[in-house]
Amino acid sequence: MTDELYDVIIIGGGPAGLTAAQYTARSKLKTIVLDKSPTAGALAYSNRIENYPGITEPVTGLQLLDMFRNQALKFGAEYAETQVVGINFSDEIKEVFGTVKTYKGKTIIVATGSMGRKPGIPGEEQFLGKGVSYCATCDAAFFKDLAVCVVGDSEEAVKEAGVLVRFAKMVYLISPLKEPGYPMDGPPFSSDKVLIMAGTRVVSIHGTDVVTNIKLKNTESGEERDMPVDGVFIYLAGNKPVVDFLNASVSISEKACILTHRSMETSIPGVFAAGDVTCGEVRQVVVAAAFGCIAALSAEKFIHNRTRARSDWSKS
Ligand SMILES: Cc1cc2nc3c(=O)[nH]c(=O)nc-3n(C[C@H](O)[C@H](O)[C@H](O)COP(=O)(O)OP(=O)(O)OC[C@H]3O[C@@H](n4cnc5c(N)ncnc54)[C@H](O)[C@@H]3O)c2cc1C
Repeated sequence: MTDELYDVIIIGGGPAGLTAAQYTARSKLKTIVLDKSPTAGALAYSNRIENYPGITEPVTGLQLLDMFRNQALKFGAEYAETQVVGINFSDEIKEVFGTVKTYKGKTIIVATGSMGRKPGIPGEEQFLGKGVSYCATCDAAFFKDLAVCVVGDSEEAVKEAGVLVRFAKMVYLISPLKEPGYPMDGPPFSSDKVLIMAGTRVVSIHGTDVVTNIKLKNTESGEERDMPVDGVFIYLAGNKPVVDFLNASVSISEKACILTHRSMETSIPGVFAAGDVTCGEVRQVVVAAAFGCIAALSAEKFIHNRTRARSDWSKS
């Protein structure tokens, strides 16, 4: 346990959490961002962002995240790469349990996003690390001259197929959509080692000690068939708010998103939530950042016991 008491502990280092950090740190509140990984959030998965205001040339999600993080650090926020595994919100001073230490804070902002997809394909969990992977950059070299499939229809999936094609003898790019949502020009589509299988769903993954084959289903005809593969790389976007570490301490909707008031306060006073983990309908970087701003100003109001949130510009 650290003896340091933070004014604001922010759980999650995506656009919502880092924007909140920027505002609270700039307001001279002692702020720390606890982030599982700078590459694990939704924005980190995005190859190309061109609709965030002020970004006139496309940037990768990771580049935009770096800008957000550097801005928050510049204003004095601390950043710790650690996964939050539990909380205790029952007292006025709240506790947040990281993998290595416990943090104490007067207010909490939960901004853990919605990338909480659990292994969903039968066989996926069983063969994880035995042919199933989520990272071509990490594992492609293990599949030299073998046949692999990439499951997903994001640009991320295509990028990872581009890594795999340098090693594997065949890469099947499997998308449940009839018209996958990525541009099909350019690499890796020019390679004769890449076969697009649109309108196809992976029903299950099979093997012995390692993956040997998958069962496929044609999404139109319903026809099923087996296909031998040695590796299954899965890039299905997560769509489950990351709330498991909260142990149902705050009110959560039927869809498992965190319910908040307009001030972004949760059912527990002093605990706020922002971004994709909340029940907002629009999931975009600019919206997550805006929620983060509101949560930060509300946390500041809570700490200073004011009746109204102060606009950030009112002190400049
Ligand atoms: C493939 C893809 C493409 C997209 N393209 C666009 C686009 O072009 N334009 C756009 O505006 N939006 C886009 N979005 C949506 C946008 O990325 C999200 O709306 C936005 O990132 C949400 O921000 P967030 O901070 O709420 O969550 P996230 O960005 O998901 O960040 C959550 C953070 O919480 C951390 N975290 C999770 N669990 C824990 C834990 N237990 N302990 C500590 N930290 C934890 C994660 O590591 C991560 O850093 C895209 C999303 C995806 C998936």
